[in-house]
Amino acid sequence: MSDPGVQASIHKNLKTTLPRINNYISSNRFREVNLVGRLYPDSRPITLSHWALPGGEGAWQSWSFDDVIKQEFTPVSIGDSFGPTWTTHWFKLEFEVPEEWKGKEVRIRWGTNSEATVWSHDGHVLQGLSTGDPVAKRSYYTITRSYEGQAGPQVFYIEMAANKLLGAYSGDQIDPPDPDMMFTLTLAEIALLDSNVYQLTHDLEVLYQLANELIPDHRGYQAMYTANQMVNSIIAGDDSGAIALAEQYFAKGNGARCHTLAAIGNCHLDTAWLWPYSETKRKVARSFSSQLKIMENYPEHIFVASQAQQWAWCKEYYPELYERVKAQVAAGKFLPVGSTWIEMDGNIPSGESFVRQFFYGQKFYREELGMTCKEFWLPDTFGYSAQIPGLMKHVGLERFLTQKMSWSLVNKFPHHNFVWEGIDGSTVLAHFPPGDSYHMNLTVDEAIWTQENLQDKGRAGISAFLFGYGDGGGGPTQEMMERRRRLADTDGCPKMEMMTPDQMFERLESQQHNFCRWVGELFLELHNGTYTTQAAMKRLCRKVEFALRDAEFYLSMAIGLLGISATLPLLKQSLTDLEISWKKVLLNQFHDVIPGSSIEIVYPQAEELYNEALLVAATVRDEAIKAIFGDIGTKSQVVINSLQWPRDEVIKVTAGAVKPGSNTQKTEGGAEEYVLVSAPPMGYALVLAGTPPFPVTVNEVNEVFVLDNGFVQAEITSTGQLISLKVSGDDRDVFRHGDGTQLAGNQITIFDDEPLYWDAWDVMDYHLETPEVINAKDSKYTITPVTVVESGPLLVKLRWGVEFGKSSFTQDIELAAAAAYLTFSTSVSWHEDHKILKTVFDTNIQTNKANFDIQFGHLQRPTHMNTSWDTARYEVCGHKWADISEPDWGFAVLNESKYGWMARGHQVSLSLLRSPKAPDYTADMKDHFFKYAVMPHRGTLQEAQVVQRAYEFNNPLLKCDLPLEGVTEDSWVSVEDDGAVLHTVKPADDGSGDIIIRMFESCGCKSKVKVKLSMAIASVKASNGMEESGVEVPFFEEAGVTFVPLSFTPFSIKALRLTPGSVARGHD
Ligand SMILES: [Zn+2]
Repeated sequence: MSDPGVQASIHKNLKTTLPRINNYISSNRFREVNLVGRLYPDSRPITLSHWALPGGEGAWQSWSFDDVIKQEFTPVSIGDSFGPTWTTHWFKLEFEVPEEWKGKEVRIRWGTNSEATVWSHDGHVLQGLSTGDPVAKRSYYTITRSYEGQAGPQVFYIEMAANKLLGAYSGDQIDPPDPDMMFTLTLAEIALLDSNVYQLTHDLEVLYQLANELIPDHRGYQAMYTANQMVNSIIAGDDSGAIALAEQYFAKGNGARCHTLAAIGNCHLDTAWLWPYSETKRKVARSFSSQLKIMENYPEHIFVASQAQQWAWCKEYYPELYERVKAQVAAGKFLPVGSTWIEMDGNIPSGESFVRQFFYGQKFYREELGMTCKEFWLPDTFGYSAQIPGLMKHVGLERFLTQKMSWSLVNKFPHHNFVWEGIDGSTVLAHFPPGDSYHMNLTVDEAIWTQENLQDKGRAGISAFLFGYGDGGGGPTQEMMERRRRLADTDGCPKMEMMTPDQMFERLESQQHNFCRWVGELFLELHNGTYTTQAAMKRLCRKVEFALRDAEFYLSMAIGLLGISATLPLLKQSLTDLEISWKKVLLNQFHDVIPGSSIEIVYPQAEELYNEALLVAATVRDEAIKAIFGDIGTKSQVVINSLQWPRDEVIKVTAGAVKPGSNTQKTEGGAEEYVLVSAPPMGYALVLAGTPPFPVTVNEVNEVFVLDNGFVQAEITSTGQLISLKVSGDDRDVFRHGDGTQLAGNQITIFDDEPLYWDAWDVMDYHLETPEVINAKDSKYTITPVTVVESGPLLVKLRWGVEFGKSSFTQDIELAAAAAYLTFSTSVSWHEDHKILKTVFDTNIQTNKANFDIQFGHLQRPTHMNTSWDTARYEVCGHKWADISEPDWGFAVLNESKYGWMARGHQVSLSLLRSPKAPDYTADMKDHFFKYAVMPHRGTLQEAQVVQRAYEFNNPLLKCDLPLEGVTEDSWVSVEDDGAVLHTVKPADDGSGDIIIRMFESCGCKSKVKVKLSMAIASVKASNGMEESGVEVPFFEEAGVTFVPLSFTPFSIKALRLTPGSVARGHD
């Protein structure tokens, strides 16, 4: 039988036929006669009562469901308002479903313009609701698809959160939250759904979208005429005829050339952003339960949830829901994705933090769900470190997904699929969903745009299509599922297959030979202010990363030196405490917390988590040291060095602690003394006042202060500027040309900092047009000129200050004996609006590239603006140091808490503070303390050991009072030959007493080293970021010392698992 086809409209008038279809499914107009008006043919009011949970933000966490429902609920009605912002309101819903609704679908319809959770009468989380912001995203709960009758009185509860899906802004989305927001109850009823009408509205909606997108193509006209004929049929009272017409259209499938979209449900849920952590816990319950509800009726649904922390919250706060989620995990429908503890920032966390994100994320999934993720999923962070491929390989991952690069302001990234090569040469498969979004609504225009926007046409036959409400969570809706069914395989639209990420990546991998290669970082040309905003967060992050490193090192030494049996209780307790602490740090590295883009309420809470982690790190460190040295006997002052090379450093000790007449220098105020101490690699030494190789001197000549310690010579003006810096005895000066042209460093400079929109996020290119040097010689601000506070021979300290705007700035410039760098210890009382503060170094170094410290390595970037790609990198991320050099000399800037840099031409600047007003109006408006240092050097940065000095700058010698008997100095671990840095020494997480060490090649060279351990080792195995055991690694012993020879390729990361042997010695 031939296909009669659809009946076209009488007139060829696109301008009437097409809008007519849209009007027929409009929610706003013509509801008296159109299809939407027929959706709910009957409804009944609900008897409502209410109880306001006492307390504000997070107060819900101390109430169980059973306690809540025992409270006194009082009657409320439509039109009543509830609030203020962040409070919780419980509603009891009582109703009876009419018998005449038997066999029909029955829904609860709800409106409060807020988020809410539907609970059963017996305490099961049933589904989330989100009924505003500004349009309803999920405003009904389906009680039954087919009412069985005689249910009697029914009770449900709704827990209303006094916030919207995206927090509580009342003007612009990123405005600070309105603290007094109220939410009005606008709708509360049970309603009967006409399910035929429901299906027809979706048929018409998708046909309308197809017509809109495909006309003037034949297939687009077919869609329009089908829909038009359907409307005529429905008006004539023939709904089933209309349904048949739609079925006929959607049955026409695609040909083989069609692109496939892997539809993957997700609910990108920011762990904190325009709402605090506590609200995210509830958002998890709302999002997860909503997806389970959808799975009841849409068995094809695949939903992925990233961030193990969110799964852990589900387990902790909603154990019954968590069990139901796990059942769908077992069924392969509800899947963990991404591997990490949270979706972290891609720039700021250290290499070790990155490893731990994967380690604790996968550990959770393995232990809880019996599976691990196969991909790194980071759709929404503000740039991606060039070491990520190496870090991924280190934890066993080869698949990467993001979409954020589509936000770049200047250049369009040329691929959606590529082989990404990191600084160590590791490669992974990278996929950017070409729809450039993770919260697709699943519409025809999105599907077609995704296909059109694909940068790899003819190379890739499949792309991820991530659908579901996101940022504030939520995920796919039933309506999206309906559209997806119609678009599964419909000629004219890409195929839309529900698929797991694993299935999608497998198909991409089969096409990988077609993909181009991208080498180095994925630099996001936007949001570059996030390296600097919320300075206290960054500083705490750096401090705690080093504190946890040291705690794990000392704990490992206790195990290695004393043996596992002697240290087991300490190990067990410490491993638990350290894991909890690491997870707090990893949580704070979330991609809106550490970047500084969250609302005010988030930061004191994050700070508390950091401080708790710092306290645990100090406790574990002290307990481990006590175990190693014992606690009995006369105590002496000792310094401990947790770095792998010997150090000579000036430290402070209590006055009189070292014998009089030694090489000491009273500190300012006289309560303490400086001494120069020597400490061996990864070991300890009695504090002895060493003789400085050269005394540090300061001389003033014409208001210029000349400092010299035999290694560094610097000249400082009375306003704190650096006008000469060189390696002592060298004639090359960082700030003075051979012809005498004068340059300057430490130019404290403020710039206007008014982004186009994303205030806390962005520092725009044009800020560079507004520099104002506040410590120039002719500065208009009140400067307290340099005075000599301490004058050697162990340390020279100058002090100066400046008052500007509403802020003040005080700086101690310090040069210590034997130091390779000059330190700037800086206190700022910061109260500016939309300004950025930097220290600028205008140097005499002729080069077109600069190097920046990143995770387990460093990165070279051009300092010129040849191309648009170079130009866009005006503000870049770096960690502990940046360096510009000529082949045989150069200049480095070190810091202990900053991440924002610029290197342009011969200039290097370090960003110190910003003052954005949204979404946190108070961001950074307080007192700050931070340090940076400058280091002139001979040779390359590798020859000058810039990496080592930056480690020292971030990790001062530890001073303790310890009982030392006989041995006054020892080195537990060291590394012979340069190149590889032993960053991590930690007890294996499995509690076996094995020790994991993690090293990285730091020079960008092929390096051979020997790790030397003064402890007995039974076996050495290759390991990785997951702490797995690999092949045996050869080692040898000589006179009780274990040597492990290793070879490294440039910037490679290597882990070993050491099993300690019989105990070589103890403290007794
Ligand atoms: Zn996000």
